[in-house]
Order: sequence, then structure tokens, then C-alpha cells
Amino acid sequence: MNPTRREWAACLAGTALACSSSAPPETNPESAPDGASGQDVLSRSYVLDLHCDTPILMLAEGYDLGIEHDYAQVDIPRMRKGGVTGVFFSIYTSAVRNTEPEASAKAFEIIELVRSEAARFPQDLLLATAAADIETAKKSGKIAVLMGVEGGHMLNGSLDVLRELYRRGCRYLTLTHSRDTAWAGSSGSQANKGLGEFGREVVAEMNRLGMMVDISHVSDKTFFDVMETTRSPVMASHSSARALASHGRNMTDEMIRAVAEQGGVVHINYYNAFLDDDYAARSSKWSRGKPSETDIRRKHKSDPAAARKAIRERLAAKLAAVGRPPLAVLLNHFEHAANVGGVEAVGMGSDFDGVNDELPAGMEDISKIPNLVDGLSRRGFSDDDIEKILGGNTLRLMRAVEAAAG
Ligand SMILES: [Zn+2]
Repeated sequence: MNPTRREWAACLAGTALACSSSAPPETNPESAPDGASGQDVLSRSYVLDLHCDTPILMLAEGYDLGIEHDYAQVDIPRMRKGGVTGVFFSIYTSAVRNTEPEASAKAFEIIELVRSEAARFPQDLLLATAAADIETAKKSGKIAVLMGVEGGHMLNGSLDVLRELYRRGCRYLTLTHSRDTAWAGSSGSQANKGLGEFGREVVAEMNRLGMMVDISHVSDKTFFDVMETTRSPVMASHSSARALASHGRNMTDEMIRAVAEQGGVVHINYYNAFLDDDYAARSSKWSRGKPSETDIRRKHKSDPAAARKAIRERLAAKLAAVGRPPLAVLLNHFEHAANVGGVEAVGMGSDFDGVNDELPAGMEDISKIPNLVDGLSRRGFSDDDIEKILGGNTLRLMRAVEAAAG
């Protein structure tokens, strides 16, 4: 019999007397004994990933969702293997390389790209904008495609743009990316700036529209200002736990509790450097003195395909040298968030296709979700708990945000 989740939590915290049983047993997904029960949970659950950056690939290289690739993390065949019900594709533009008007124009270009890519596969994909659409997708055996906008810089300072993003189907906005805007602070800046007057109007308008407010990437001060401002529950689309890994993109226990108390959801990010300080240190040590991806792109400026190939080779060499953390490291973040905020406050926000290949062993792409189910089960999460984490919580949140709109 597995120890319960609480027993493992006590064990990890060093407060249990009897936790002599060496490592948690979920570290080897290959030896999972009861895949059948895992398959049951998976097939009856709404399986929703809140953050996939695959549109970056669609834009850069015409990445085809319909074929199974031997690189990247998301395509229809691998979503099918992972039992996925729905993904939020991220509408991402750099806040560093673009002015706000440029970023805004590009956002609409990417939205149309996602919409047309989804329309190419009517047997498999359903463009969705509401919780009810996700239910329809599941009933008809399709995968719901949703969109979230990653960064308030794409509003170009205009609520009209926000409304237009909503009208074109986007159902969340991450208030910042890695830089402060004029109206909100980013965790990527040292200033710890708060939410300005226009930022409060953005949050209020999102509440009115029924668009989820995403606090991944914001500064600590902006986070707490948002919590004071919003009248709908908010979410983190792709953030892990700062108590386990110190990156400023992660959420403190106080933040996890605050989101949970309002009925929101923290969707755990799978990026190695956000999960494991030791990985982050090994990774930056390896990178020292080597050409960066920007250097490689510059070198192959006239041949983007050659640049992509060289970047992939660089990543493979890095992972071979640095090593992937075990799946247990990722499970620790799910478990920690559940212990702090309750199991109702946890979801999945992989960041697939946005973190190169720097993902834990056993979670190399979206087809590996069954490993997460097995791992959580081995830590004593009940099938009902797992169903909530896989997407039940997110669906509840979407319904709440929709109900509070208007
Ligand atoms: Zn991000």
C-alpha cells in the first residue's frame, strides 16, 4: 500500500519518524505496476495544459500539428498519447525585441495562425473559448484548442486591444512577460513595481469580459495588487513553487494560499530551472564560455533552418552533460502546491515548446502525462484528486470566471 500524500509530505519535511523507505517510489515511471488504473483516471478526466508555446514553432518553421515529430513537445499524435482534452496555446511575442505596437500586431498574426492550424484538423481539434466547448470536445473525442496571451505589452496600452483579443478567442492574459510595462511589474525586473491605474482597469475589464487573469511572470508587488483588485479568481498559467526552487518566477507559499483562497489555480511549470536550483546552477555553469542561442542565430542569420539545427544540437549536448532531473522533482512541486493551497488549487502548465528541451526525465513531451498520473498516484493522491489536478480545477475556474462576467 502506498503511503498517503500527507505521510510523504511529512517524510519530505523530515517530520515523520517512520519514513525509512529510501526514495519515493515514483522516480522510475517505467516500473509503474498499475498503468491500467492510471489509464482509467486519464480517460475519464479533463486533461488540460494551460501553457504550450507551440505557436512559436508554427510561426518560425511552419510546424505541422498533424505529424508526430522527433523534437519539440506538442503535436496531435503526442497529445492523443498523453490523453489530452485541451491545450492553451500561448500567444507569445518578445517584450524585448518588439515595441508594443509591433508586439500587438504580431499577436493578431499568431492568433490567426493558431486558428487556421486548428481548422486544418477538424477531426482532431476544436477551437474552444469556454468551459462548455471543452466538454463538447471531450464528448466528441476531440482536443480543445484554446489561446492565452503571454504579456500585457501586447495590449499596446489599449483596452480596445484587450477586447479584440478576447473577441478573437483569447481567454487569458498574462499581465506581463519578462519586462515591466508602464502599468504592471514583472518578476524579471528588480524594481518590484506594483499594478498601476491602467493595470487595475485591465483587470476589471478582464473580469467583465470573462477572461482569466494570469499572474505568472508578474512581480510580487503586482501579484498582491492584483489579488486586491480582481473580483474573479485568478490563476498562474505556468508557475512552480518558490519554497522548492528559488527562481523569482515561482510562487511563494503565501501567494499559493492567496490564489487558493479565492478559488484560483496554480498551474505547475515543468521547466527544469524553475523546478531545481541545482539544475539551474549546473546549466549556467555549462553555458559559460559557450556560444549562446542568440550567437548561433546571429551566425546563421541567412539560414534559419541551419540555426534551428545548431540550436537543437547545442541543447542535446547540454542535456547530455547536465542531465535531466528525475520526475520526482516535478512531482515535489505538484505535491507542495497541493499541501499549501489544497488539491483544488493545482493544475498543469507545462511550458512545453517554450523551454527548449529542458524538462525532467519522464516528462520529455506531452505524451508523458500518464507518468504524472502514475507518480501522483504513488504519492497517495486519490483518483479524484488526480482528476482535479489534470483539469477539473481549471474547468471549475473557467466556469467561475465566465459566471462572474458581464
Ligand atoms: Zn512564460
